[in-house]
Amino acid sequence: MIQKEMLTYQQLDGELNRIERDLRKNENFIKRRQYKAAMQECEETLARLEARAVELKTQLAAAQQAVQRISEVIDEHTREVGTLEDEDELNYMNKKLNEQLAELANVEKDVKRILHEGEEIAKTFDEVSAKLPRLVSGYRKCDEEFNRAAAEVKPRVNEIRAQQAELRKSIDDNLFNVYKKVADGGVYPVFVPLEDGTRCGGCRMEMPKAAVDAQFAGKPYMRCEHCGRIIFKQ
Ligand SMILES: [Zn+2]
Repeated sequence: MIQKEMLTYQQLDGELNRIERDLRKNENFIKRRQYKAAMQECEETLARLEARAVELKTQLAAAQQAVQRISEVIDEHTREVGTLEDEDELNYMNKKLNEQLAELANVEKDVKRILHEGEEIAKTFDEVSAKLPRLVSGYRKCDEEFNRAAAEVKPRVNEIRAQQAELRKSIDDNLFNVYKKVADGGVYPVFVPLEDGTRCGGCRMEMPKAAVDAQFAGKPYMRCEHCGRIIFKQ
């Protein structure tokens, strides 16, 4: 036989488990979690876009500097070409000038690409930002509704906890430790009756009578090897 206070305590834990399970199944609890995930995704996307925008800004500044530098070289070459009379030198300078012009065209292409990507980023940023207010208000609404549902069961939860605290005073420490250890592993109920002298009242596993008798020799309970519950004789 197990202390009746322990069994009542366990029964109350069962009610607490049910309350918690119902809250987790609450529509607003589930929707709130979905809203939160969507908000997080938006925020991550915005952060990623912002980081890319910073990169592009740096790239653009470098490209603009390159344009400046090449333009200066081109101006210089153009001036030099004006002063040359030797055909070989003129050809050479023209070749140099064309190289610079080609380089300038490349950098300008790069600038165009950067500006284009920047525009795309700004567009996506606006689209994603526009989604956020709806998500935030949806989250808040579900949060309020869920908190209301949680507040409704709160008095009963407090009552159960107070009852359990009172019962705990009369429960044997060793017994309670055994209970806690098994219960913390997610098992409920922990204490189950022995059925028909050979069966676990939790998982219904049949055991040889001799083994059961040996386990119970001098002890008020035994552990089910199959489900880990603690079996007691009624
Ligand atoms: Zn069992």
